[in-house]
Amino acid sequence: MQKEKLIIIGSGPAGLTAALYAARANLNPLVIAGEQLGGQIAITSDVENFPGFDNILGPDLTEKMKAQAEKFGARLEYDVVIEANLAQGAPFRLKTYSNEYEAEAVIITTGASAKRLGIPGENEMIGKGVSYCATCDGFFFKNKDVLVVGGGDSALQEALFLTKYANRVRVVHRRDELRAGEILKTRALANDKIQFVYNTVLDTIEGEGKVQRVRARSVTSGNVETWETDGVFVFIGHFPNSDLFKGQLAMDEQGFLIVDKYMQTSIPGVFAAGEIMDPIYKQAISSAGQGCQAAISVERYLEAQHDRALAKA
Ligand code: NAP
Repeated sequence: MQKEKLIIIGSGPAGLTAALYAARANLNPLVIAGEQLGGQIAITSDVENFPGFDNILGPDLTEKMKAQAEKFGARLEYDVVIEANLAQGAPFRLKTYSNEYEAEAVIITTGASAKRLGIPGENEMIGKGVSYCATCDGFFFKNKDVLVVGGGDSALQEALFLTKYANRVRVVHRRDELRAGEILKTRALANDKIQFVYNTVLDTIEGEGKVQRVRARSVTSGNVETWETDGVFVFIGHFPNSDLFKGQLAMDEQGFLIVDKYMQTSIPGVFAAGEIMDPIYKQAISSAGQGCQAAISVERYLEAQHDRALAKA
């Protein structure tokens, strides 16, 4: 059993910022990085709204955050927490694929994962033309035709990115109005390679061994058409990665962890930051800010625990 003062679960902007602050407070934090170092920002193309960087690639921003946290002494384990025993209170026990830990405090920054459409053909075609990450897979669609499903910022940002490779990008949105903000909307609407298909949903994704066509249905007329395409990129939002904590920590009906103003969850000593507890803002910078807050709260919590132990002795 490896004993730690502070374990941070997750390595997105929330986790790496918490690590930076905790390291600078001499808490010697251990970050258990999870399946994707950097989380969602690491699979995002251009980031233009992180203060101090007017344009940086998601993976580069991740590297910079990681290096900065490590510079001050944060340690990273490339492992995944598969069991968390928090309910009995501190020390909290965590199990990963390769180790077992005890921690005096925990910050949960497990973030959120891409939602799926849940239509026939989607799961079967992942990696064969269905993707949730334009930065990872865009390159495979050089001079091809792709669909992007969704009408939010992610859909338009990634559609714009895909125009670097694809000949044609059709954004398929279920309503007649985009949810995305003005900057991305203006840019996407002005891009010749992008076409918008409104009031339309996909019913199936089909093909022999790879995506070749979809069945698209108009939600206004009910008409179903078959479209040929080479790829379907899905950007329809995210769900919080909180399964590990069900039945232990208070969460809302969507699974977001509930925290108080100190970023503390329903169990003292367990804190949360980033998209695991934020159903509203969901920005790299807001997650980073929440990570900072959680680390400062941990510092104060551990100090108070220490003082209490001294008073008892
Ligand atoms: P989002 O804002 O929740 O948008 C999801 C989109 O998918 C919406 O247009 C929604 O349609 C559609 N959708 C949801 N479920 C669907 C389904 N089952 N079938 C078809 N369409 C479906 O998610 P997001 O775009 O991933 O953005 C998440 C957050 O990150 C937002 O706060 C966003 O501002 C932020 N973000 C910012 C940037 C940036 O500023 N550069 C880039 C990326 C993300 P409806 O509109 O009808 O609900």
